[in-house]
Amino acid sequence: MRINIIGAGPAGNFTAFLLAKKGHNVNVYEKNSIIGSPVQCTGILSDYFSEVLDINKKFILNTIENTRIYSPDNNFVKAKIKKNYVICRKKFDNYLADMAKEEGAKYFLNHSFHTFEKKNNKIKSKFKNNGKNIFSESDILIGADGPLSQVSKSADIFNNRKFVTGTQIEIKMKNDNVVEFYPFIGCYAWVVPINKNAIRIGVVSYNNTKKLFDKFVNLKLGKKYNEKIIENQSGIIPIFNPNVIAQKKNVYLIGDSATFVKATSGGGINQSLKAAKILVDCINNKKDYQKEWQKNLYDKLFVHLIAHKVMQKFSLEEWNELINIFSEKKMKKILYTQSRDKIISMMIKVIFTKPSLLKFAKYFPKEELKNIRSPIF
Ligand SMILES: Cc1cc2nc3c(=O)[nH]c(=O)nc-3n(C[C@H](O)[C@H](O)[C@H](O)COP(=O)(O)OP(=O)(O)OC[C@H]3O[C@@H](n4cnc5c(N)ncnc54)[C@H](O)[C@@H]3O)c2cc1C
Repeated sequence: MRINIIGAGPAGNFTAFLLAKKGHNVNVYEKNSIIGSPVQCTGILSDYFSEVLDINKKFILNTIENTRIYSPDNNFVKAKIKKNYVICRKKFDNYLADMAKEEGAKYFLNHSFHTFEKKNNKIKSKFKNNGKNIFSESDILIGADGPLSQVSKSADIFNNRKFVTGTQIEIKMKNDNVVEFYPFIGCYAWVVPINKNAIRIGVVSYNNTKKLFDKFVNLKLGKKYNEKIIENQSGIIPIFNPNVIAQKKNVYLIGDSATFVKATSGGGINQSLKAAKILVDCINNKKDYQKEWQKNLYDKLFVHLIAHKVMQKFSLEEWNELINIFSEKKMKKILYTQSRDKIISMMIKVIFTKPSLLKFAKYFPKEELKNIRSPIF
């Protein structure tokens, strides 16, 4: 089958690799001139990363096994975590693209997808390349074109989506190789070491992100941090939409274009890779992708969404209380043994260990749940 994939990020490249390996005629169209650039990502991945992909030194910058989670009163809980990986997105995206090329996928850079029309069972896509219109026909079209997915807009399945903005810099700073998390700043703020002498530091929020970022960075690095900046790496992140339609006949969405992102952390790479495997299995075995991604990804993404909405309502005092509770030995053990990519078993352990935390159920977003057309409600 001839398959056109829009977007050469992790979702598009890994899908291209898996499809080309199965013998499909795969074309990947990317609007930028360089794969993996500009970088708009912190590149931290939980231990679950090694379950979805064979880890290769070529794209790993660092591994981290300790975290500090801060509370507004400047206390923190320091805990051991299972190995987290910090990747170089430029190298990672190119690594996956090279794998796809080796299997025969063809890449077309500087090709910006605009729209498509259906002709019998074929899809005719229109691109702009250096001001010229280019057309390409395929049996299947896959939108792996990120948060603002033009493919989903052209297929009329963009619907109502919400986004947060992430403002991040990569900057020189000596550090002790501990990932720091500030869950009370905006949606969350972080410090992620990429080596002994450099970090990625950022804030994600629905609004005022730049203001929150400036305040946070001034506090952490002092006022004269500008001269130490290596790169600005900001971007937008979709909030998982439980009503998302990721398949309309032979048009499919994957990764950020399908809003497959953990709302508590903005992490989308592991979900992109997992979704690529699901999608390719569906195409090869004529399965219903909408049903299959819901069966395999929905529950976890949904629990992250609810946890995110609950946490957005915490007062500063409640954050102080919660971080204090996590200083207890048995709670630290949960942080070590449970992966954030397996949030359901983590939540169950947390509630069993500390039933008093059920009081935060008062923040459960009941009203919003009424509008959800989901497989579990
Ligand atoms: C500040 C920030 C920090 C983040 N940190 C993390 C993290 O630590 N861990 C994690 O797992 N996730 C993180 N994420 C999320 C992660 O970056 C995304 O989930 C991931 O990139 C999704 O991959 P994708 O392939 O779906 O989309 P993308 O990586 O966005 O790739 C989409 C590709 O499509 C191309 N494209 C877009 N429109 C068109 C078009 N019309 N025509 C042709 N090509 C097009 C784009 O140029 C891009 O190359 C972060 C995001 C941000 C903004």
